[in-house]
Amino acid sequence: MQPDAGIPLPQPDPNAPQRLHLLGLQPDELQAWLADRGQPAYRARQILHWLYEQRVARFEQMTNLSRDLRAELQHTCRIAALEIEAERTSDDGTRKLLLRGRDRALVETVWIPSGQRNTVCISSQVGCPVGCRFCASGTDGLERNLGAGEIVEQALHVRDLIRREQGPDARLTNVVMMGMGEPLANYRNLIAALRILNAEWGLHIGARRITVSTVGLPKQIRALAGEALQFNLALSLHAVRDDLRTELIPWGRGVRIAELLDACQHYFRTTGREITLEYVLLAGVNMTSQDAEGLATIARNLRANVNLLRYNPVSGLPYERPGSNASFAFQKQLRARGVNAHIRTSRGRDVAAACGQLRRATRQAGA
Ligand code: SF4
Repeated sequence: MQPDAGIPLPQPDPNAPQRLHLLGLQPDELQAWLADRGQPAYRARQILHWLYEQRVARFEQMTNLSRDLRAELQHTCRIAALEIEAERTSDDGTRKLLLRGRDRALVETVWIPSGQRNTVCISSQVGCPVGCRFCASGTDGLERNLGAGEIVEQALHVRDLIRREQGPDARLTNVVMMGMGEPLANYRNLIAALRILNAEWGLHIGARRITVSTVGLPKQIRALAGEALQFNLALSLHAVRDDLRTELIPWGRGVRIAELLDACQHYFRTTGREITLEYVLLAGVNMTSQDAEGLATIARNLRANVNLLRYNPVSGLPYERPGSNASFAFQKQLRARGVNAHIRTSRGRDVAAACGQLRRATRQAGA
């Protein structure tokens, strides 16, 4: 049947049952869906081209598909599930998007431009189950997992922004799974999304430019090592003693630090990718000389780099940001023990870029 671009298709029914989000599908899954409808396999390639290269917003724009197929797609599938609800720009250029799902769930995504590099910080869940005591997202608990399509869509929203501001050839170069949620607790959707972000037919971002940040699920870290993709792994350690870590990250109660480090060793040995240890500096909580010594020992054993993050205070939470002298002194102790430790600047502080803060402020305002 010939494509029929000029005639408008019926509008989607907002009350229709759950639609298939095409941005979450691998080519073979799309081919299987098409085959069930008597369509040839090459249609999958055409559709993926419209989705990722042309970035069309409506099925009727897929002009090399038949009118019947476009109508079927419109009836049962979706291209977008997240709308931009708010957009804030920080003085340092960091851009934060607040996205709203069909169920009104709020999701945060951040674009961090830096020289030639354009990084997107993506959320993996709505809210977060982990409940870190110092985090805005942690205080409200988990609402739901994000689907693979919703994870990919966040990156596409940021790529659109980049192209709008830097020109049509500008690239999204890096991905960090460090937004709201624990990525490894949404494992299946995470892996499906990462494969799409990495694929040549998708967003074509090298695996070595994709970082998965986790508070640590040993079983899933081992599974990630077996995916035969060389993603970077960042472990949010935040404490070197089990008792303090459990206090800061109650969700990690059942997992001992030694068990986590074992899984990270396995990841390093299997993939050859270095591990990064994330350590939030909390004034008067985890910054003693013993903490520095313990962190240095762990980092050296793992051959890991350490990112020190000066805490961004959250209203209503009791933790404080350490002064720069105390932060540099902690870094110096690590470096003196041969550890590659950096203090990361908190970009976008003025637009509440710490995970969950814009979402939280919006919810509190009753939006
Ligand atoms: S810091 Fe990360 S893991 Fe911890 S509660 Fe916040 S979003 Fe969840």
